[in-house]
Amino acid sequence: MLRSVKNTKTQPNTNAGIPVNYELLAELERRAGALEPNSQQLDDLFTQVEEYSRQHIANVCETPAFVKSKDQSIGLLSSPITETGISLDAVLKLLYDHVDHEGINSGSPRYLGYIPSGGLVHSAFGDFLAAIGGRYAGIFHSAPGAVRMENMLVRWMADVVGYPKGTGGYLASGGSIANLSGIVTAREAHRLRSTDYDRSIVYLTKHTHHCVDKALRIAGMENCVRRRVGEDGHCRMSADALERRIGADKAAGLNPWLIVASAGTTNTGMVDPLEDIASIARANNLWLHVDGAYGAFFALCPEGRTVLSGIDKSDSLVLDPHKTLFLPFGTGALLVRDRNVLGSAHGSRGVYMLDIDSDAHEPSPAYLSPELSKHFRGLRMWLPLKLLGVAPFRAALSEKIHLARYAYERIQSFDGFQVGSRPDLSIVTYRYIPKRGDVNEFNQTLVRNLHADGRVFITSTRIHSKTVLRLVVGSFRTHLDDIDESLQILRDHVEELENS
Ligand SMILES: *Cc1c(COP(=O)(O)O)cnc(C)c1O
Repeated sequence: MLRSVKNTKTQPNTNAGIPVNYELLAELERRAGALEPNSQQLDDLFTQVEEYSRQHIANVCETPAFVKSKDQSIGLLSSPITETGISLDAVLKLLYDHVDHEGINSGSPRYLGYIPSGGLVHSAFGDFLAAIGGRYAGIFHSAPGAVRMENMLVRWMADVVGYPKGTGGYLASGGSIANLSGIVTAREAHRLRSTDYDRSIVYLTKHTHHCVDKALRIAGMENCVRRRVGEDGHCRMSADALERRIGADKAAGLNPWLIVASAGTTNTGMVDPLEDIASIARANNLWLHVDGAYGAFFALCPEGRTVLSGIDKSDSLVLDPHKTLFLPFGTGALLVRDRNVLGSAHGSRGVYMLDIDSDAHEPSPAYLSPELSKHFRGLRMWLPLKLLGVAPFRAALSEKIHLARYAYERIQSFDGFQVGSRPDLSIVTYRYIPKRGDVNEFNQTLVRNLHADGRVFITSTRIHSKTVLRLVVGSFRTHLDDIDESLQILRDHVEELENS
């Protein structure tokens, strides 16, 4: 312990016969001292960070939903990492000027693009306390409380979607990683080896999230055959087309392996017919993985539960608490119906870890996931759920569905607008048909103009080679007034563009 190195003058230059360079150690201790702030420095950190945070929260609704600055944050680089630090004031100013007010303001109630992430403030305190406590959440022996907390959240999510008692799962960094891990679990469950890949079939649709293709590539399974199953007329997988395709593939001597169904596609928000797909999966012995990164938490509210019927019959499921549980970025989740299968796909031990499992009362995330040392993610999810209870989350999710239905009806009533399918959950697709000129071009320009305006943020996509606009109600801060205001801004821009 360096703490015992105090007065170098009176110390002999050996310790139990071992030579010690007291002067060097004292000098290093002094120079590293900044890593351990004294109480005054701590007070300053607390006070200034608190003030910054309060200001941010107070202004988040009024700050534009999107800002594209001229310098695109390049100014940050004019303050490089150097040998000596700068003041907290100066650091917070850099954060304010170059990070926190450029690009998408994901906390804005008028951020209606992609899939909004929440940024629930209670979660930030959870992150803070997790970092302060510094528990190592990977293994039960190291932090039984942190591991029990994560497993408790896994069981809670399992109950929300109706998964059985033996469910295993963990909190990941996001939906992409959770999908990757789910696909690897499906591979191990079916004992596929590389020689099987080019005759093993994955069934998905054109609307399946691209992270599934990415996951197959990362898992070394790019050779698997992907069947883009036909749709039902509302951008959902057609169960009939799926069944026919599987039959044909079996007859051709191939190995139908995995169905990836979407419980809310990012593209259109529509939910694949999960009950029917689950029956087909069971009858044909395929693994059913459901990507519910956007939609699965809607099972918390009655409107969503109806649409998601059958989700409980899947083999594995991804949820994204940093989307529809309104947490800040950094938390996804994987659930696997049979915990043992998850464990055999991910379990691994180092020789230096042999003495830690004798007293394990709970499965450890490190043995169920790709990570070893991991962020103590449970606290950012547990804290808001404990403090607020589940009721406000249910209400907010119901509200999102009703607001999306309202927006759908409103847009449909506007002159010149065409809407897509009635939303299953909280995404509305629509486009404006201009009086003259190219429809796709008009809608692309419209989105660009809206981004330049910044008060509302919506995004576009392509459906059946048409440019379509999306409106995603996903923030807990988005209410009726925000929808009305956003639709008014949309119409103003349409009018301006028509007249230009
Ligand atoms: C967002 C999303 C993903 C990817 O999740 P990340 O958390 O962004 O990694 C996958 N699938 C769907 C349906 C999504 O909406």
